Amino acid sequence: MSWFVRGILGGIRTMRRAVRAESAPGTTPGLPTSVSPATAEQRALEAICPTNAIIAEDGGVRVREERCVHCMRCSPAVTAAPLPWRDDVAWVRGARQEIDEAALRGAFRRSIHVRVVDAGDCGSCLSELTHLNDPLYNMHRLGIFVTPTPRQADVLVVVGPVTEQMRSALLEAYDAMPEPKRVLAIGACASSGGIFGPSFTSAAGASDVVPVDVMLPGCPPPPLAILDALLALTGDRKR
Ligand code: SF4
Ligand code: SF4
Repeated sequence: MSWFVRGILGGIRTMRRAVRAESAPGTTPGLPTSVSPATAEQRALEAICPTNAIIAEDGGVRVREERCVHCMRCSPAVTAAPLPWRDDVAWVRGARQEIDEAALRGAFRRSIHVRVVDAGDCGSCLSELTHLNDPLYNMHRLGIFVTPTPRQADVLVVVGPVTEQMRSALLEAYDAMPEPKRVLAIGACASSGGIFGPSFTSAAGASDVVPVDVMLPGCPPPPLAILDALLALTGDRKR
């Protein structure tokens, strides 16, 4: 029972800042970023990226973050000519344009209720998402709650590339939500299809099926990046 006594004495403290660099062991270590100009060795990384996330163009390298599956082949840990690697967690981005936080703030003034749809994820994105309920992250203190029914949901969170079997279920969940509603695609799969799609078994991400407002790259994104994305949907990332 020593673990029990240690837990009682030490406790688990909720982190004071909702979003900061994520350093917990096992979390995805940052994201590769675009660079211009790039060296010949950096441009050559285009050939080894398994998901065509790296595009060598105009003397530089552009990284399509939504396609990156964190294979680490372009990281300082693996290659002598790595891409710049960001270690923050503010990875969220608008699906079609930059995030208009003012417009989002107008839609949701206080708490939000989130309906999560597993549209064929491998389990990791969903696992990182579940951690937001842990005392350490404690999303409830920020007014973010999970609801089992789309009829009470403000935000539809999608993980996975949307398999053919889940396409109609995702669409039905979206249609059942009241206005105003927003859609957040979490992970490379939901953002772009990742390593699975598009194929005969899955779509190229959630935007193939429902209108996505905000996407979060990562494979999987760490809990703090997900928290940051949810706060972006409330238009309140500074909280
Ligand atoms: S870490 Fe991402 S961008 Fe780099 S090679 Fe792997 S998939 Fe491509
Ligand atoms: S993005 Fe990566 S971690 Fe998330 S469901 Fe796809 S393969 Fe799994």
